[in-house]
Amino acid sequence: MNYNIALLKGDGIGPEIVDSAVKVLEQIGKKYGHVFNFTPYLIGGCAIDACGEPLPKETVDGCLSSDSVLLGAVGGPKWDTLPGNMRPEKALLGIRAAMELFTNLRPAKLYPALKGDCPLREDIVANGFDIMIVRELTGGIYFGERGMREGKYGEEAYDTECYSRMEIERICKVAYETAMKRNKKLISIDKANVLDSSRLWRKIVHEMEKDYPEVECADMLVDNAAMQLVRNPAQFDVIVTTNMFGDILSDEASQITGSIGMLPSASLGYSTRGLYEPIHGSAPDIAGKNIANPIATILSAAMMLLYSFNLKKESEAIVNAVDKVLEAGYRTADLAHGAPSRSTTEITDKIIENL
Ligand code: NAD
Repeated sequence: MNYNIALLKGDGIGPEIVDSAVKVLEQIGKKYGHVFNFTPYLIGGCAIDACGEPLPKETVDGCLSSDSVLLGAVGGPKWDTLPGNMRPEKALLGIRAAMELFTNLRPAKLYPALKGDCPLREDIVANGFDIMIVRELTGGIYFGERGMREGKYGEEAYDTECYSRMEIERICKVAYETAMKRNKKLISIDKANVLDSSRLWRKIVHEMEKDYPEVECADMLVDNAAMQLVRNPAQFDVIVTTNMFGDILSDEASQITGSIGMLPSASLGYSTRGLYEPIHGSAPDIAGKNIANPIATILSAAMMLLYSFNLKKESEAIVNAVDKVLEAGYRTADLAHGAPSRSTTEITDKIIENL
């Protein structure tokens, strides 16, 4: 098959880590008989420098006419003093909106070889963990009615959590389908003991159970979920939750893996076209030194193969190759803790050797 991939390398370490992922995809293409066509577009600081804006129209059009999009990271000190709407990070919101991405998938996986990097006690993570957080991305309190007013005690501000049936159904569909692709365990996280929006959320989650009889579905209150993530993370397979709860819990989950350079993400909408990116930023402190960890971006490419192109065995081949490289003890500097480390290109080549 032929796939057209838009590349948004961005700033800082973005170009180095995206180049690594491209090399891995090219090898997958050779091995499994696919053709990946890559077209680079500008985004973030480099787009500001070249075109005077962080998200040029050509980039948006290029992404919308591609089969999927791979993004590195944007931003850096050079552009930090620009006004808000001209900042590189503004381009991220712009491209997500243009592509109508309402789902954010964030895996948090503790690799057995990296247990020492996990801040949790050894007995808690003895068997590792592998969680997929499905976060609603375009609704809820971040987008609800808001304002300032005079209240009983003077000046006050308010934000509103509001979810429609349509928004809940479409994110739950993604969550159930994600659970079907994994261990078929879904936990829906809400605050249904207090919030009406959560009660509607919970009702709809369970209405949809009949369409996915193989999925075991349970509810958990968000305060309990925050505790359970550090008490027994291995109990989770797929989590589905609202925009704000997902924002907070996905950061908590990423921290317990102990390695920011390892975590990929996917943002999805109605079509199979998605936006795949590492969860970390542009790491300007290490840019251009060939020492960045490319694994989060390589795993983002693996997610693209699975979620956009339905290439399950090709995606697994990348994940397994990463596992093998870590098991063999190869580490970039961020994971080496002062011990000898490998460069970005060396780790990439090792992953390619293991494909
Ligand atoms: P950061 O994630 O870029 O870096 C935090 C720390 O982690 C740094 O010490 C960095 O060297 C290290 N790090 C990050 N990724 C790494 C990797 N792959 N390998 C090895 N080490 C890695 O966060 P920050 O320093 O707060 O932000 C830097 C810039 O990135 C800012 O301009 C910020 O706005 C931007 N940013 C962009 C995105 C994005 O593009 N999605 C996300 C977060 C931050």
